[in-house]
Amino acid sequence: MLLDKIEELLKEVSALTAQNAGDVEQLRLKYLSKKGEINALMSEFRNVAADQKKAVGMKINELKQLAQNRINELKDQLETSEAQSDDIDLTRTAYPISLGTRHPLTLVKNEIIDIFARMGFTLYQGPEIDDDQHVFTMLNFAADHPARDMQDTFFIERSNTMDVTKNVLLRSHTSNDEAHYMSTHKPPIRVLCPGRVYRNEAISARAHCFFHQVEGLYVDRNVSFTDLKQVLLTFAREMFGAGTKIRLRPSYFPFTEPSAEMDISCNICGGEGCGFCKHTGWVEILGCGMVDPHDLEACGIDSSVYTGYAFGMGVERIANLKYRVSDLRLFSENDTRFLREFEGA
Ligand SMILES: [Zn+2]
Repeated sequence: MLLDKIEELLKEVSALTAQNAGDVEQLRLKYLSKKGEINALMSEFRNVAADQKKAVGMKINELKQLAQNRINELKDQLETSEAQSDDIDLTRTAYPISLGTRHPLTLVKNEIIDIFARMGFTLYQGPEIDDDQHVFTMLNFAADHPARDMQDTFFIERSNTMDVTKNVLLRSHTSNDEAHYMSTHKPPIRVLCPGRVYRNEAISARAHCFFHQVEGLYVDRNVSFTDLKQVLLTFAREMFGAGTKIRLRPSYFPFTEPSAEMDISCNICGGEGCGFCKHTGWVEILGCGMVDPHDLEACGIDSSVYTGYAFGMGVERIANLKYRVSDLRLFSENDTRFLREFEGA
């Protein structure tokens, strides 16, 4: 009698199924709990004849083992399939690393290069670590020029106090590219030199120890200040809009003569005057001038035949005007919240 009942339960247990965790718990209660089927068998076991106790006892153990295994099996199956279905998010990108964006300084630099490339300028990039000869001497800086001070320039090698041209430093402007290019190429030269430069400045919202410049150089027969002005006006209108005005103010740079600073009409107030342009209607964007004959001769170019112009601008400065970035430090902090702002630019 009891053996038949156990056989029946064995069949029942081996065919158990469950749809969810609740079903599994119901099965556990039905078979394995104190008031379950298997415990009920144990109470009947007392009435089994002594000679059958061994056989019946083994069968009950077999049933208990089977029920435990089967219920654990069902539980595992459910957990695995639930875990799998939770993990599948069909909206997720196939790539685990999200794509980055172009850095705002790269965007602005590329735009500057684009505009000048349309006017026939080619690219040249020189060394960031250079000798004094190319950074200062060939560009007409006097031996005692303040730019050569430790307070302004990072020196790597400065042991030659008698001959400053031997010293090695991090370039403080991209004009060294012009010295390299002019001493290795014959005119006509029309080249654009973008790059990183270094100055010994305390880091603040308005200054950094490194920043980016783009310089341009044009050397040929009969190059005049008029050519320079027209090229810069075209650049300003392409970069800041067709209505942009420019003005040139006399200035001084060791490597150009005459020299000028160029302002554009404030692109925020349209020249009316606002806080950004300090109520003048103008903002300064670059320095320029005619290449000093001394530089041409130092690079082996006959200054009685050739003339040229040069200009240089800070990429951060242009980026600030375009995107109103109030703190220069944001450009080098790698904060993706800031960089993502330029995703659509
Ligand atoms: Zn303004």
